Amino acid sequence: MTEVTIATHPARWPFQDLDIASLRAAGYRSVPFRQFILKVHSRCNLACSYCYVYEMADQAWRHLPRRMSDDVAAKAVERIVEHVAGHSLSSVEIILHGGEPLLADAGWLTGLVDSLRARVPAQVNVAVQTNGTLLTRPMLDALKCADIRIGVSIDGDAEATGRHRRHADGRNSFNAVAEGLRLLASPDFRECYGGILCTIDTRNDPVATYEALLSFSPPALDLLLPHANWSSPPPGSGYADWLISVFERWYSRPHQETRIRLFSELIQLVFGQPGAVEGLGLLPSTILVIDTDGAIKQLDSLSSTYPGAADTGLDISSNSLDGALDHPTTVARQIGTAALSAQCRDCQVMNICGGGLYPHRYRHGAGFQNPSVYCDDLMRLIIYIRDRVTADLRRLGGHQAYT
Ligand code: SF4
Repeated sequence: MTEVTIATHPARWPFQDLDIASLRAAGYRSVPFRQFILKVHSRCNLACSYCYVYEMADQAWRHLPRRMSDDVAAKAVERIVEHVAGHSLSSVEIILHGGEPLLADAGWLTGLVDSLRARVPAQVNVAVQTNGTLLTRPMLDALKCADIRIGVSIDGDAEATGRHRRHADGRNSFNAVAEGLRLLASPDFRECYGGILCTIDTRNDPVATYEALLSFSPPALDLLLPHANWSSPPPGSGYADWLISVFERWYSRPHQETRIRLFSELIQLVFGQPGAVEGLGLLPSTILVIDTDGAIKQLDSLSSTYPGAADTGLDISSNSLDGALDHPTTVARQIGTAALSAQCRDCQVMNICGGGLYPHRYRHGAGFQNPSVYCDDLMRLIIYIRDRVTADLRRLGGHQAYT
């Protein structure tokens, strides 16, 4: 684990400048974790160029066991049981992650899920996020039997996917993923199909990318901005224009062809409904990561900021998950407007944007109390969608958007 001392800390906010005791005295309460990302396998059979686990600042994965051991898995179940019971939670989400989680043996994965369902005193919804190259029929049979929903990462057509999502020897992963996706979309496995996750590259045509993804019939689509921050700026530009082109293609159809979570969430937030996606709106984050070696960690994507940014210094062998509730990063992700920069607090779309994804606010030294590095794009996209749907609803009888 990377040691980061306060004197040299690369993130003064929240690690030095956030007064947690005063916040608690002012009435801010911690919110229990409800989404647990279990990093069951630390290695990957792809070498994607933008991967925040292997290609960015934090190289700590090199010291991790390849697969979570049985002892760590059993302890993780015990800690989740303890947390759920202690906070009387009625449901939790478990996300099997990696590396590539399907490199862990299918029987081992389903055994872990069976153990969670048998022991956690709440509804346990389980999903796996995979690169899609290992979605064979036997693997899908096992995941279906264990009622595990499957999310697959792919970036569009063969050309778009091949820009980044390649094997270590340079081969494009597209054909293997497309084969797995076609099987997943078939009637035999469709009930397990969670959706597709696509990282945007603005060199790819937006509508062609959307239509290529749509050809795999996903029930939901996540369009992600590439991880970047003020000290490591985004690749390329034009993210708002790219997303607005996809929005128009998606929104102008008489029937919804798939759910694009980013747009559905923004529309909900425009009309004052609470959002449910990390990185939009102001609801507290409730995600916690348990790493392959049992380390309790923060949001995985923090690894894109500086080495050790996702570390809490806690471990399931000796710490309860409650121990992470007072960690500065957890507090920062749970206090809504109090975590935002002055610019965000004055912003006309603050309630919708929420300052953007937490890692995207990072600036070396100052830390995380900044607008998103995607601020201009978020502002343009939000205003465009707000005006578009508000005008439509006005035509249908009058509605007030919430800003
Ligand atoms: S659009 Fe920019 S200023 Fe407004 S809340 Fe989002 S990141 Fe902050």
